[in-house]
Parts: sequence; structure tokens; C-alpha cells
Amino acid sequence: MFLIPLSKPSIGTLEETRLLEVIRSNRLALGPLITEFEERMANVCSVRHAIAVSSGTAALHLILASLDLGPKDEVITTPYSFVASTNAILYTGAQPRFVDIDPFTFNLDPNLVKAAITPYSRALLAVDVFGLPANWPTLTALADNYNLKLIDDACEGLGARCLERPIGSWGTAAAFGFYPNKQITTGEGGCITTNDGALAARCRSMRNHGRGDDAVMEHVRLGYNYRMSELTAALGCAQLERLPELLSKRETIAHWYAEALSPLGDDIVLPPEMPDASRSWFVYVVRLRDHFAEDSRDQIIQYLQEMSIASAPYFPSIHLQPFYRQQFGFKPGDFPKSEAASARTLALPFFPDLTREQVVVVSNAIRSVLPKLSRRHTLASVAPSTSHL
Ligand SMILES: *Cc1c(COP(=O)(O)O)cnc(C)c1O
Repeated sequence: MFLIPLSKPSIGTLEETRLLEVIRSNRLALGPLITEFEERMANVCSVRHAIAVSSGTAALHLILASLDLGPKDEVITTPYSFVASTNAILYTGAQPRFVDIDPFTFNLDPNLVKAAITPYSRALLAVDVFGLPANWPTLTALADNYNLKLIDDACEGLGARCLERPIGSWGTAAAFGFYPNKQITTGEGGCITTNDGALAARCRSMRNHGRGDDAVMEHVRLGYNYRMSELTAALGCAQLERLPELLSKRETIAHWYAEALSPLGDDIVLPPEMPDASRSWFVYVVRLRDHFAEDSRDQIIQYLQEMSIASAPYFPSIHLQPFYRQQFGFKPGDFPKSEAASARTLALPFFPDLTREQVVVVSNAIRSVLPKLSRRHTLASVAPSTSHL
């Protein structure tokens, strides 16, 4: 147990009240809370359809499954993400095709998409990494030009906007996840948002065993059990009611970090802002600058751990995960910008109830460990340096 954990859900009396309501109602599945939760999600994301499911990964799987991808089909995506965004492609039998990232935003670089397109390209799956919207206007133009379905892994982006348009409303469909570290949590849970009525109907059927519209025991397609329970939806309703409060707390904490860490700007890069997008703060990830050696990020994690402060390497590149290396033969150097980011990014404690004092404690800890980190063996660092010490 850490004195300052990496994340912590914010659950209060509203969640308790709404849960109790469901428990006492005896209606525990496919009831009014699912409907309410879906209406709230559709509202937040300004879309016509929201389909609640059991996880963010289930949401991604159903969106991809609704596209009827075959084994030769390819889905263009980013290696700098949580592994689920690519795993979901593999579930359908299609091939992931990685393109590298923009090292400033950590999001998929739209300029690299064109070179990755083949006759088998069917879809483009981008991620709003750390809650910063991907470049949706450019991705939309690319998808239109090359006749690709456009999918948003919005599991980290609830409440973000791009050109004033909510995340969840861009592309063919978007997937949200509600694991306890996300902007809202239902324990486990997820949701699909889309304006495509046919896609929504297919996903709705597939989440419930491929059930048809008419007879309860008629199954018209291969389905799954990806339902969300009423208890889960009750938590979700309470959390969505509190969404403005939860997001504004996260934003305030991000400002505290920026204030405390900006004097360390020569050594660490703070999360970027984009002119046409407003981030929804999911995690607070900083990047060590290039004059530190490759192992310095892991040293920092170790030092912080000794001070009972949690931190984590975020994200390891998907193509270098053991399973992906084995299955596809990926190796270091394949996606250098993603790998460089993976080696130097660090998630700091970040959750709505983090106090200003705790932010100062974490920031001071980082300041105190920076001089202890190993540096790259360049001439400048090998030569005795007196000038700026
Ligand atoms: C959290 C997350 C997911 C998966 O969510 P689960 O609910 O754990 O399945 C997928 N993609 C990204 C980018 C995530 O951050």
C-alpha cells in the first residue's frame, strides 16, 4: 500500500443511494437503470445511440465485430495505447497495422496513415491517449478519402472535446470504459456511442447472445454476453450525474501539478495542450527529457516507491509486449517514436480526491530524485560540469 496511490475512485452517498434503489427493486438485469445510463451517455456525447456493455474491451470488440471483418482485413491503429485497443482487433480475426505516434501529443500521427493503407485496409482505430483527443478532423478526412470505418477508443476520453464536438461523437462509433481508474467508474463496465442506427442495433443484439428483435429465444447472429447489470448501471448513473464535478476536480489537480512541476521544465515535459481540443484529464503523465539515460524512468519509479508514492510506466508499446513479439515478430526499432515515449513516460498519482498538499509532496519528491538519475553518456555529461551547478 502506498501513502499516495496512483488512482482512487470517488464513490459517495449518491452512488450508495442509487445502488440501494436497484437492490430493493429486485430488477437486476436489463431494466430501467440501463436505459437511464444509456440516455445519459448519449446526452454527454451528443449521439443518437449508446449501448452499455460489460467493459471497454467488450465495447471495442462489438464495434469491430459489427464491421464483419475477415482474416485478411487490416485495421490501422497505434502501438502507444493500452493493449486492449489492439487485442480487440485480433478477436475479430483481422490484422492490426500499426502506425507510429506524434511524439508531442502521444496520439497516432495522421501523417503516417496514408503509407500504411493497403487494398485490405478496412478501418482506422485511434485512441484519445490520456484524454487528449486524437486529431479527429484529419482522421475523418482520411477515413472519408480511403473509405475506412473510423473507430474511437475513447476509453480515456470521456468529457473531452475536439473542435467543440464531444469525444464519442466522432467517427463511426466510439468505445468507453469504466474501470476504477477512469473519469467515471462502474467497477467494470463500458459503452458504445454512435449515430449509426444499424450499427447500434447489431451491437445491442451481440451484447445479448445475438438475440433477434422478435422472439426471446431466437438468435440471429453470433453473440456474446457483454451485458451490463442494473447494479453497475446504477453506479454509472450516479457517476454521470457527478461528471462535471469529477472532471473539474481532475482539471484543478492537473493545474496544481503544472504549477508545481513547471520549474522542472528543463528535465521533464508536462502534458501538452492542443489548440482545437480540450482534454478530459484521465492520468497525469510526464515525460523525462532525452538527456536522461534509458533506465532513469524506472529509477524514478523506484525512488518514489521508497517514499510511498505510486507511479507507473505508461504506456509500454503494444508491439513490444511479449505476446505481440511472439505472434508477429515485432522488434525494437519498429515504431521508434512510440518506443521512445514508452521508455520515458511516467504516470503520477492522479484522482479527484488528491489534495494540493499531496501534489506538492509528489512534485517535491520528483525534484529531489532528478539529480540522482543516470544521464546519457554524452561528452557534456562526462566532462566535469561546473557551469550550472
Ligand atoms: C481502459 C482502457 C481500455 C479497456 O477498458 P476495460 O474496461 O478494462 O476493458 C481500452 N483502451 C484504453 C485506451 C483504455 O485506457
